[in-house]
Amino acid sequence: MGDARHASTTTHAASTSGPWPGGITQAGGLNEIVAASKVLVVGAGGIGCELLKTLALTGFKRMHVIDLDTIDVSNLNRQFLFRKHHVGQGKAAVAAEAVRRFRPDIDITSEMTNIMLPEYGVTFYKQFDLVLNGLDNLEARRHVNKMCVMANVPLVESGTAAFLGQVTVHVGGEVECFDCLPKPQQKTYAVCTIRRTPEKPIHCIVWSKEVCFDGVFGSGDVADLGEGLDFVAGTSPEAYARMMFEQLYCENIKQLLKDAEASDEDLWKGRAPPSPVDVGAFEEDIKLGLSDDYTAPDQQAVLDEHESAQMLAYAVRRLVTERADEVGSLEFDKDDEPVMRFVAAASNLRSFCYGIPMQSYFQSKGMAGNIIHAIATTNAIVSGLIVVQALKLLCVLKGRGGIKVSDHCHTAYIQQFPSNRKLITPVQCVKPNRDCSVCGSKPLVLQVNTAATTLKDVVDAVVKGAWSIKNFTLSNGRQFLYEDSEDLDEDEVEDNARFLGKLLRDLPGGAIINGTDVIVTDDDSSLKVPLFVVDDPELPAGECRVEGTLDQARDAAARVDKRKAYEERRLAEPIAVVAEEEEEEKEAEGGQAPPSKKAKVDDIVVL
Ligand SMILES: [Zn+2]
Repeated sequence: MGDARHASTTTHAASTSGPWPGGITQAGGLNEIVAASKVLVVGAGGIGCELLKTLALTGFKRMHVIDLDTIDVSNLNRQFLFRKHHVGQGKAAVAAEAVRRFRPDIDITSEMTNIMLPEYGVTFYKQFDLVLNGLDNLEARRHVNKMCVMANVPLVESGTAAFLGQVTVHVGGEVECFDCLPKPQQKTYAVCTIRRTPEKPIHCIVWSKEVCFDGVFGSGDVADLGEGLDFVAGTSPEAYARMMFEQLYCENIKQLLKDAEASDEDLWKGRAPPSPVDVGAFEEDIKLGLSDDYTAPDQQAVLDEHESAQMLAYAVRRLVTERADEVGSLEFDKDDEPVMRFVAAASNLRSFCYGIPMQSYFQSKGMAGNIIHAIATTNAIVSGLIVVQALKLLCVLKGRGGIKVSDHCHTAYIQQFPSNRKLITPVQCVKPNRDCSVCGSKPLVLQVNTAATTLKDVVDAVVKGAWSIKNFTLSNGRQFLYEDSEDLDEDEVEDNARFLGKLLRDLPGGAIINGTDVIVTDDDSSLKVPLFVVDDPELPAGECRVEGTLDQARDAAARVDKRKAYEERRLAEPIAVVAEEEEEEKEAEGGQAPPSKKAKVDDIVVL
C-alpha cells in the first residue's frame, strides 16, 4: 500500500474535529498523539492480524506484538497477514514483517512468547500507553487485565464468537476491569433436561456424548441406560447393536413414560412426550449398517431416522470389532470417525424420539467438539472498534484533562441480528465494582529484588516486622513455604525453616518472582493477606518495600469474601451434565453478559 493512501487515511482521522474529546480539534493534534503512543498488542491471530493492519493504517507507529502461536494452515482463511509459505512460523514475527512491508517507517517489535510469564511484569506494562487484547483464552485475558490494573495502563479488550463480538474499555479507577463482572462458569444443563426432557439438538448431543457414549464405550456409568449395555467381549456386533437400539430408543423411553405417569410431576407440560421407536421398522437399517455394503453418508447430509439407525449400527460394528480392547475406556474425540459417527447417530435417534430436528454429521461434530467457526468479518469489525476506542481513550488521557473516559468511550457489542435496527450496540462504560478482587481495592505490593533476597528477609522485615504477625503461614499460592507458630514442636520448627535461607526466586512450587501473589494467613484472625510481588533488580539485597497497609488488606479481604459468597450463590444451581459447547462460546465472547436491558443504550451509534 502506497504512502499517498496512508496519508489520506490519517488525515481523515485527524481532520474529523467534531467528535474527538480532550480538546483535540486541530488537524494534526490527534495524529501527533497517535504517532507518539506506544501500544502493546496481545495476540496476532484472528483479531490481532486485523488490528495490527488497522493500527498501522490509522497512524500508530510504535507497537509491540506478542503471540505464543505458530501459523497453521487453518488460520489462512482469515488471518490475512499470513500466507501459505508462512505455515509453521511464529505469528507475531510474520505479522510484524507483513505490517512493515506496507508501513516501512513503523517501529514494530514482535515476540513469540507467553504473555503470562513472570518477566512481563508491571515494569514491562508501564512502558505502554495502551494495551490492546486480541486473545482467545480466558486465562490470558484475565491475566493481562490484572497486570494492566496493577500497572495502571488502560486496556481495550475484545472477543469474537462467530457473528458475535465485543469490545470493552477498562481504565483503572474509572471504568470496570475485565474481572469486575463474574465470568459465567461452564454452560451447564440440568440433569433432568439431558436425561429426560431434551428440547434442543444440543441436549441430545450432550446426552449422546456424555451419557450414552461415555456410559457404553467409555468409563462412565452404564447402569442408568440399562444393565444389558455392559459390553461383554465376544458379543457379536449385530446382537450388541440391536440390543442397544432396543434399550436406548424403545425400552428406556417406555419406562420414562411409565415413571412420569406414576409421578405427580407434569414432565410433559408444554411439550409433547417422547415416542418409543418401533424396533421392527428399523430391522433392515440395522442389518444394512452392519453389512459390508454400507457406505457412511456425506458429512453435510442431514440424515433421517432410518439413515441414523444405519449409521449407529455401522459405528457400533466398527467400535466393537476394531476397538474391542478399548471398550470401557474409550474417550470422546470429535476427530475419531467411528466415535463421532456413533455420537451423531445416537443423538439423532434420540432427537427422533423427542421430535427434535436432526443434525448432519458436520453439525453434530461442531456441537460435540465445541467448534465455533470464526468469521473474518467479525474480527475486522471488532478490530476497527478497538482502534476507535483506542483513539478516544488517547484523546481523553492525553488531552486537556478533566474529562471522563466513561463520557466518551463505550462498550460495543456486535450482534448477529439487529437490535433497535443496529448490529453494533454501544453501551455506556460501567464504574468499577468495589467488590472486584482484581481492581476493587489496591492490593499490597511487595517491591523486592527476588534474586538477592531470601524468604527470611521477607518474613522478618514484613510479616513479623512491619505487620507484627506472630502466628502465620506463608505460601506462593501454589506451595506452602513457611509457618510460624508459638505451638510448634522443635522438629516442626526445623522442618518449617528449610526454605527460609533460600532466595525468593529459588523457592519451590514456582518460586516468588515478578507477579507472584504471596499469601500470608494470620492464624489468629484467619485474615489472608495477598502481597503482589514486583521484582526490582535495582533494589539492594534484603530490602523489602511494601506499598499499602494491613488495614487496607483487612478491608479488601472482607470485600473479597462478600464477593465470593455472592458468586457462589449465583453458581450454586443444580446442574450436573456439562455441555462445553457454549462454555467456549462464552469464553470466546469474553465471558461477559450481553448488554442488559437496564444498560443505557445510546440512540445514535457514537463510536
Ligand atoms: Zn475489577
